[in-house]
Amino acid sequence: MRKECPICKKSVEEDVSKICQDAEDWIIKAIRRSHPDWVEKNGTCSKCVDYYKKQGPSGCK
Ligand SMILES: [Zn+2]
Repeated sequence: MRKECPICKKSVEEDVSKICQDAEDWIIKAIRRSHPDWVEKNGTCSKCVDYYKKQGPSGCK
């Protein structure tokens, strides 16, 4: 079943809520900083997790 990633709005074939559980805490915080309305339980796709992972813990934006 396809789901929509609330961050990038793309439909993905992944369990978006599970990917979020596996993501590290600082990544979750980085996502929340860019998307204040986002809640962790809505999940995210692995591409978004990757994207924020590359930004680094300090969020060098
Ligand atoms: Zn995404």
